[in-house]
Amino acid sequence: MLSPAVENLVAQLTRLPGVGTRTAQRLAFHLLRATKDEAHALARAIDDVKERVRFCRECGNLTEDDVCAICLDARRDHAVVCVVEQPSDLVSIERTHEYRGLYHVLGGALSPLDGVEPSDLRIDELLRRVERNGVQEVVLATNPNMSGEATAAYLADRLRGRVRVTRLASGLPVGGDLEYADEVTLGRALAGRREM
Ligand SMILES: [Zn+2]
Repeated sequence: MLSPAVENLVAQLTRLPGVGTRTAQRLAFHLLRATKDEAHALARAIDDVKERVRFCRECGNLTEDDVCAICLDARRDHAVVCVVEQPSDLVSIERTHEYRGLYHVLGGALSPLDGVEPSDLRIDELLRRVERNGVQEVVLATNPNMSGEATAAYLADRLRGRVRVTRLASGLPVGGDLEYADEVTLGRALAGRREM
């Protein structure tokens, strides 16, 4: 019905999360109507993030340098490390303005059924960081769903005896993602974190 190029654009857009065929078609038609400059700006932005953005050598956060701005910030508390699954979770916690420590981004959660094992996540890096850097508390802020809880339990086992380990307080919607928790709820969960 459409030209192969348009069909291809729709197919690529459909691969984005939350974008069904109808939305993909609407976006494709929008881009067809847009000026060349506008469309190229979008294409270039995608190119740029893929070229420039990488993972922080220390914490696994996204950065355009070797080490991210949070790790380099001397005003932050370097003795506390908050463990999250994805960079988007870090953004959610930053939005609460309740947390002044560092982060460690695992890159996912343990899920043996999906083939995600400890070696697939940045767990060894976390353990090395705790050994090396005078970390006093690790806050486990993985998602309050099955794989997030399993990951927190696994990490608590590995870290116990080496460092204080805490977990976000309950009150977060069970089965949900940190990404979708509102700032107040997440801020409270952080303030009320408990020993693990
Ligand atoms: Zn970092």
